[in-house]
Amino acid sequence: MSMQSLITTDVDLDKSGKQFGNLAVPQSTNSSGWAKRYIPIVVIKNGDGPTAVLFGGNHGDELEGPVALMNLARKLEPVQIQGRVIIVPMLNRPAVEAGTRLSPLDGCNMNRAFPGRPNDTITGMIAHYVSSTLLPIADLVVDVHSGGSSTHFLPSVNMHEVSDRQQMQKMIDAGLAWGAPYLFIYEDVAGAGLLPSLAEQMGKVTLGTEMGSKSQFGVEILDITARGIENVLAWANIMQPSGSAAPRPSEIVGATKAEDYIMAPASGIFEPLCELGDEVKQGTPVGQIHRIEHPEREPVAVEALTDGMIMARRAIPLTLQGEMVITIVRPYEISSHS
Ligand SMILES: [Zn+2]
Repeated sequence: MSMQSLITTDVDLDKSGKQFGNLAVPQSTNSSGWAKRYIPIVVIKNGDGPTAVLFGGNHGDELEGPVALMNLARKLEPVQIQGRVIIVPMLNRPAVEAGTRLSPLDGCNMNRAFPGRPNDTITGMIAHYVSSTLLPIADLVVDVHSGGSSTHFLPSVNMHEVSDRQQMQKMIDAGLAWGAPYLFIYEDVAGAGLLPSLAEQMGKVTLGTEMGSKSQFGVEILDITARGIENVLAWANIMQPSGSAAPRPSEIVGATKAEDYIMAPASGIFEPLCELGDEVKQGTPVGQIHRIEHPEREPVAVEALTDGMIMARRAIPLTLQGEMVITIVRPYEISSHS
C-alpha cells in the first residue's frame, strides 16, 4: 500500500503488559472541522508467542462479540498468556452505538469494505488500518458475528473453504476447539470485501461466527461465544486450557451450493413453515410470502431447493424480493474436497 494509514493510536502494539486505548480516526464534520472518532483497542502481551487478533462489532447490531470481548479484555492479564492478544471489541463503533448493521456515518457495511483505502470514508479507513496493520501481525484472526436483527442462526463457528489444505485443516481444528454446536462452511452470496475473506487470503487461521441473532441474545449464546474464544486461544497455545467443561463435539456442516441460500421470490410478509434444525428435502415447503396488495391470492410458496437441515432463517417477517429467507446445510466432509 503506497499511502500510510491516517489512523493513529495511543497503544504500542509491541509493548509488554496490558493497555487499553483507541484507534483515532480523523474526521472533519459539520460540528467540528478537526475531530477524531475513537475505536477502542486493547493489547495484552507477555513474552514471545503467537498473536491473536479478536474483532467484535464488525456489524453494529451484533452485540455478542462486543460483550464477550469487553469481558475478556478486562479479565485477561498478561501473566495468563504467552504471546499477544489484540482485541477490537467494537470495530464499527458508530454502528454499534446506532444499533445498526451498517455505519450511520457513511452507510457502509464494514464487512464489505476490505481491504479499504487510507483516504476512504470512515468505514473504509478502519478496514484499511485492520488490513495494513493488524492482520499482517496476526497468527489467529477471530471475527465474531451473529445474525443480528435480520437472521436467526444455529450457533456456529464458520469459515470459507480455502484452497490451501494445510491452512484449511488448521482452521477446522481451531473451529472444532471453539466447541460451538456447529462448524459451518459457507459461501459468499452477497458480495466481497469481507474481513474473514481477506484474513483467509493472507493465510491466517481465521474464524468467523454466527452466534444466534438479536432475539437469541442471552446467557446460552454468550456462553458459547465467550468460552469458545478462550478455547481457541488455548488451542493457539496463547492461554492455558481453562479446565472448564470439555467442548462438546461440533457438527461440521456446509452450505456449498448457491441454491442452499434461498432468496425471497417475491416481496411481502414471510411466514416460516420450518424451524432451525428441521430436516428438509428439495421441494419441501419452508415458508410462504403473503402479498400485501393481494390478500385474495394464495401466498407465494418458498420451497427448499436442496436437501439438508435449516441452519438459518430470516428474522424480519417483512421481506423484499431477493432477501435471504432460509439457508440449508448438509454434513461436510473436509477430506472429500481438494
Ligand atoms: Zn455480521
